[in-house]
Amino acid sequence: MAKDPVCGMMIDEKKSAGNSVYKGTTYYFCAKNCKEKFDKSPGQYLTMK
Ligand SMILES: [Zn+2]
Repeated sequence: MAKDPVCGMMIDEKKSAGNSVYKGTTYYFCAKNCKEKFDKSPGQYLTMK
């Protein structure tokens, strides 16, 4: 399982809508919408906890 950094949902990597590699780490997303948001400003989502 991986955490979608945009909405915080736990998702199965195999069922993810997409993924992005940022600074050597792969992030998975529940929806294309989340991936698009992340791709625009990855830093914003990675600092949010
Ligand atoms: Zn999401």
